Amino acid sequence: MKSTSSLKKAHAQANHIFRELLPAHGLAVRPAQIELCHEMIDAMFLGRVALCDAGVGIGKTHAYLVAGLLWQKYCPRSLPHTLTISTSSVALQDAIIKEYIPFLSEFLQMDGVLNSPVRAIIRKGRERYACDQRLLLRQAAVRDSERVSERRKAALFALDRQIDLDAAAGLSAFDRAQVCVPAGCPHGCTEQHHCRYMDFLADARSADVDIQICNHNYLLADAIRRRQAENPLLKDYHILIVDEAHKLPEAARQMYGKSIPLSELTGLCALLQREHRPLAARRLRAETERFANCLKPGPEQEECEQAFDLTPERKETLNAIIALLRRAARPAGSLTYGTIHQLERTVETLSLFRDRDTKYVLYIHYDQAGEITLNAASRSAAAQLTRDLWQTGRPAVLTSGTLAAGGSFTRIRQRLGLERSSRCREFSAHSPFDYEHHCMLYIPSSQQVKSMDGKDTGQIAAQLRGLLRAAHGHALVLFTSYLFMGEVCEKLRGTVPFPLLEAGRGKQQVVQQFKQLPNAILCAAGPCWEGIDFPGDMVSLLVIVRLPFPTPDPVSEAEREQYPSLHEYISASIVPQMQTKLRQGVGRAIRTETDTCAVAILDSRAAIGGRYHAAVRKELPPCPVTDSLEDVAQFIRARKGPDYFL
Ligand code: SF4
Repeated sequence: MKSTSSLKKAHAQANHIFRELLPAHGLAVRPAQIELCHEMIDAMFLGRVALCDAGVGIGKTHAYLVAGLLWQKYCPRSLPHTLTISTSSVALQDAIIKEYIPFLSEFLQMDGVLNSPVRAIIRKGRERYACDQRLLLRQAAVRDSERVSERRKAALFALDRQIDLDAAAGLSAFDRAQVCVPAGCPHGCTEQHHCRYMDFLADARSADVDIQICNHNYLLADAIRRRQAENPLLKDYHILIVDEAHKLPEAARQMYGKSIPLSELTGLCALLQREHRPLAARRLRAETERFANCLKPGPEQEECEQAFDLTPERKETLNAIIALLRRAARPAGSLTYGTIHQLERTVETLSLFRDRDTKYVLYIHYDQAGEITLNAASRSAAAQLTRDLWQTGRPAVLTSGTLAAGGSFTRIRQRLGLERSSRCREFSAHSPFDYEHHCMLYIPSSQQVKSMDGKDTGQIAAQLRGLLRAAHGHALVLFTSYLFMGEVCEKLRGTVPFPLLEAGRGKQQVVQQFKQLPNAILCAAGPCWEGIDFPGDMVSLLVIVRLPFPTPDPVSEAEREQYPSLHEYISASIVPQMQTKLRQGVGRAIRTETDTCAVAILDSRAAIGGRYHAAVRKELPPCPVTDSLEDVAQFIRARKGPDYFL
């Protein structure tokens, strides 16, 4: 804990930075942002865990960076001064390291708040860096090969200049796997004395690194290693900042669970073959095929998840594979360390399914490409987060635009393992945007509701036509199902006088095309509900076709069993999930202070008198509501300039 005078100084300096220094460099004064920064400073100095829900446009990144830099300035020398920032998207990591930190570093030094530049570094898993020894071997193998394209060769040789595989344009997945840093460096590696990866690790742990940035999975991998008294991945740190914190529970589900795609078993066959175990490789291939046959989905099945059922046939095949892998690992010393490690890991994961381990929810994932993956999701991910992150006593700031649902932090606290934490504080910073004047909400009246059927594609297309004409295109239409979206688009095509684009599954490039067109309509689902910016007039009408309730899966079915009744489960889990996603979707409407947009929700359950009307309204910004298309047209006419209608 820090003395009161340091805390006071940090607060005073935050006021100076946000009220004088940054406005002098073009940033607006936002009282909610300043309050947010003060809350974060308190958490850092007073050893709290702060849950900070930050509305669109608050400027939360500047708030936590300023709070963190001021903590570093005044923190006791005995504490590790490095800040750890965990995020979930590469885009945000890039923005923090290339834009936010250089900007603050420059102006805080000019003003005398800081004495030296801020040094930040991105930390990623070893498989994202090149191993010099493996790179040399691969380069030698492709140098004179005519079967490898010039582009692939160029990508491999570009790694002589930098070791970050994500920055190597044109690097194939195969080459990536061939040249990445291995799970264990072999003894006697010929390159170990001038290995760039080892130099990078030494640099990442050096005293002059002020900020280390990683993703949630890496943060948790580090926390798990610390708990197991293994070498940590990150440099020691005292302050943790988790941005996009609503995604931390999903990362915990992955990190505390286990999964194995069947293709990994096929990969093991190839590995055993290379390690001169042709018999073991052949037998494993035969058993893997037998196992794949008894896991096959039904003929009509698309991408889906199914609870794992241990049939006698599956049990018998699993037993055979496990015995085979155990035998293959013997005698000790006959295989490389990496192969033995992989065999042991596979046996461990498959045993969870063979033994029907009740600590996990066991399920099978079938993807569109035909890959079958066995997944074991931990039933105690929240408790493990408590143990690995919050019980360390480290101060932490968790922030996101969608931490609270319906104004409550109850569900996120539950999922993060912070339900009973006495260190935890909640804070909401509301968006500074003028929704009252810049936004209008269209929801159907109870009369319209009576004649509506949310599954009737013709009816939805007819409603959309009216709205699209009122807004003159410039629309983003969000769906919860690709199939339904395709059927509605079919009905709309050729009946609206604006370009109509459909961002189907895996077709995110369509979003870029939409951004180039002045008055187009983008129909989208999946990832377009969050994380994509549509500033300006590009999206002046946002339509939510159906309320985004979560699709049931084996993990949610297991969660449901923890509630005494279906009703309680729906209000404690399903409705907050819908509200969070709805807020993410509606967040696409207004991205800057000058944006104006009409938001339409066509789901009858959101209409006045509808079952979820109150839950929906709680999640939407304070703005006028209408059920008249003429009001929408009038709103657009009043807010947009003449160019908009050309
Ligand atoms: S020490 Fe490890 S990472 Fe470095 S060159 Fe050798 S095997 Fe590769």
